[in-house]
Amino acid sequence: EAQYAHQPEFIQAVKEVAITIKPLYEAHPEYETLKIFERLVEPDRVVAFRINWENDKGEVQVNRGWRVQFNNALGPYKGGLRFHPTVTQSVLKFLGFEQIFKNALTGLPIGGGKGGSDFDPKGKSENEIRRFCYAFMRELYHYVNKDIDVPAGDIGVGGREVSYMYAMYKNLTRESTGVITGKGVGFGGSLMRTEATGYGAVYFLESMLAAQKDNIKGKKVLVSGAGNVSLHAAEKAHMLGAIVLTVSDSQGTLYDEKGMDQQKIDWLKLQKQQSKPLAEYVDVFGGEWLAKQKPWHIKGDIAIPSATQNEVDEDDAKLMVENGIKYIAEGANMPLTAEAIDYVRLHRVHYAPGKAANAGGVAVSALEMSQNSVRQYQTFEEVDERLKCIMKDIHDSAAKASEQYGQTDNGYIDYMAGANMVGFKRVADALVAYGILN
Ligand code: NDP
Repeated sequence: EAQYAHQPEFIQAVKEVAITIKPLYEAHPEYETLKIFERLVEPDRVVAFRINWENDKGEVQVNRGWRVQFNNALGPYKGGLRFHPTVTQSVLKFLGFEQIFKNALTGLPIGGGKGGSDFDPKGKSENEIRRFCYAFMRELYHYVNKDIDVPAGDIGVGGREVSYMYAMYKNLTRESTGVITGKGVGFGGSLMRTEATGYGAVYFLESMLAAQKDNIKGKKVLVSGAGNVSLHAAEKAHMLGAIVLTVSDSQGTLYDEKGMDQQKIDWLKLQKQQSKPLAEYVDVFGGEWLAKQKPWHIKGDIAIPSATQNEVDEDDAKLMVENGIKYIAEGANMPLTAEAIDYVRLHRVHYAPGKAANAGGVAVSALEMSQNSVRQYQTFEEVDERLKCIMKDIHDSAAKASEQYGQTDNGYIDYMAGANMVGFKRVADALVAYGILN
């Protein structure tokens, strides 16, 4: 821990896993003998590089880029690329570490990785974004390949950015093998990839509710963020009969007590695509714009935090409990601080960590990889059906592990411990089989 004191997000993610897998570790002395945990907390490698690009004024700009290839025991490294000024090695290592277990939970053959840059897409022109994406891939292409490491999108990287990066990769290698997922449909992308993370989180929620003999219909849902994950979580929740009261961004929260229907959600998608303010919603549909506020002081039944890491602190967690939140499914990666997690669990709020609840995105990315390999594409309905099964499997295996290792208390399922143990066991067993290589 002392060695990585300067990487707080990474330490936070490692501690959570370390504490919750204890019962599993004790049941498997071979993990201790082969130092599985010590091996898993050190990435296979971290590649760091410089990106030179030119802005619209013709000035040279310099940014930093990284790819963390964390662990490939189960398959090629797989995980998104984030473009945001807060990107550091610590953030990418926490994301890459969580990705190992999330990917294992999907049951698909993918290892864990993550990458990105401290480039800030906000306020950049379309041309600048394109030039940056080209320049980024010009460096990254040395280290990725469809069988080695397959990146995808994340904060600041959507379909547009993925397409620019894919174009540069194709140009440099003359390969059309689908080295990055989240590509456009028609040139290697999978139907449903865009929707997968948000939809998957709501499918996971449905299983959580069913385990408590409850149902999503009529439930009041608070969503944070207004990006890819948030708006698709809001959309699926609405489709299943829930009332979506909020979305938010770095400027504040949009609150609509009537609920956000498909027309409103479509409007929000377009608004975000054009980088326009969420606040303009109020002029079109009514509701309230709560500048500089988070959604958690509003009464609701379900929270789906889907913006960024550590967006929910202990005070926010207290507000959630006071305001009646009974279920939390993390759409974002590590949106609750360690203290917030302790607080909501103490108050028996049913809590699903991102590793389990937001695994739908990477699962459909893995389906995109297999569609690229066989060069045959599935329909929206086929992919959606696979996604539903995968999310149910993740839920059921986490719930079963929680029960098996004595973590379920009077019907309260410890999804955090369950998910960590299932994901960890799959990777650890592969490492045991490999001996001391990997
Ligand atoms: P997007 O870039 O599409 O959207 C991010 C949203 O979060 C924006 O509304 C943004 O607001 C808001 N946001 C970002 N930082 C902050 C902050 N510090 N405070 C308040 N709001 C903030 O990203 P995604 O939807 O793709 O990703 C969101 C989360 O989900 C991340 O944690 C990501 O790692 C995780 N995730 C994403 C997956 C995917 O498939 N895309 C898969 C699994 C996890 P603003 O526009 O104002 O910056």
